[in-house]
Amino acid sequence: CAGVRGLKAYDPGHDLVAFRRRFAGSAGGHPLVELGSNENPYGPSDAARAAILDQLQAIHRYPDPLGGDLKRALAARHGVAPERILLGNGSHELLMLLGQVFAGPGLDVVFARHAFAVFALATQAAGARMRIAEPLPRDAAMPLGHDLDALAAAITADTRLLYVANPNNPTGTWFGADALAAFLARVPREVIVVVDEAYAEMADAPDYASALGLLDAHPNVVVTRTFSKAYGLAGLRCGYLIGASGLVAVMERLRESFNVNGLALAACEAALGDEAHLRSACARNAEQRDGLSRALRERGLDVFPSQTNFVLVGFGRDAAPIERALTDRGVILRPMGGYGLPDCLRISVGNPDENRRLLAALDEVLA
Ligand code: PMP
Repeated sequence: CAGVRGLKAYDPGHDLVAFRRRFAGSAGGHPLVELGSNENPYGPSDAARAAILDQLQAIHRYPDPLGGDLKRALAARHGVAPERILLGNGSHELLMLLGQVFAGPGLDVVFARHAFAVFALATQAAGARMRIAEPLPRDAAMPLGHDLDALAAAITADTRLLYVANPNNPTGTWFGADALAAFLARVPREVIVVVDEAYAEMADAPDYASALGLLDAHPNVVVTRTFSKAYGLAGLRCGYLIGASGLVAVMERLRESFNVNGLALAACEAALGDEAHLRSACARNAEQRDGLSRALRERGLDVFPSQTNFVLVGFGRDAAPIERALTDRGVILRPMGGYGLPDCLRISVGNPDENRRLLAALDEVLA
């Protein structure tokens, strides 16, 4: 209870509904440029939209409590048995559930500084202690990337759970197969290692590797993924976890009975069937990410390398006034003060029009 009293709720950055209202009738009728939540500006596959409409006919029914069709589609996609898959109301729910199941008072949970905010939230909600590993220094070859040695060194005899995101939010940085294998070799088997791969589909660097290939050799590893990012279905709330069947079975007992709604089950299954749409969204994102990173560097800003649909940008001074001035111009970015990076802003990669408008507003503010 004391732990819950000290808990800070997940901070979405801004009251977006209030902003949308404020800018709805603004001069020129420009809608907001919403680049604060790492959403996919291209939206989902048409097949997913059609599946949602079709599923509306059955909206008075409870959804399939087992999510069997979606699990089987995911199992086929990833080459694993359906019993190794757990569905969640977004991967956020699964990250919280992992804390509930594998952490608790008297236990330690390890994660890195500048990690996804939900890792801390899940730890505190479970009443466990946070063990925070420092990142690589900012001027190293992979600035602000995870220091996997530091992460392994932070494990104590009381550690049962460790979270690491690859690629990472909010830094955008990543690590490869050799680094992950060397890291896992140092982690005791009784520690559950959660590899959060929310942005995995977008990572195309030759030195990026998913942990999915290591699951068989490491039954203490689980991977979480989401339909919110590359698949463009953030509003439906669906994520999944892949891990050892015994571990998944334990979590199945504790999840809410109908945690994934019927529209999401149908849409995600349809989205999985449209590879071409996924590939095209990822290719467009990579092209826009490279262009935006270049444009920001040309303006003298520090752009951290990214394998995601956002870039972390250093301004060399307190970024809060810059962020406020951009907000006044209808451009929403994510402030990083709460992440211990007050000189940075996190900018989601938008579509070409959104990126142009962001850069124009930034030029005004930085002039
Ligand atoms: N993990 C990471 C690293 C994220 O950035 C996010 C969303 N911002 C999530 C998990 C949660 O995504 P969702 O709950 O929409 O699946």
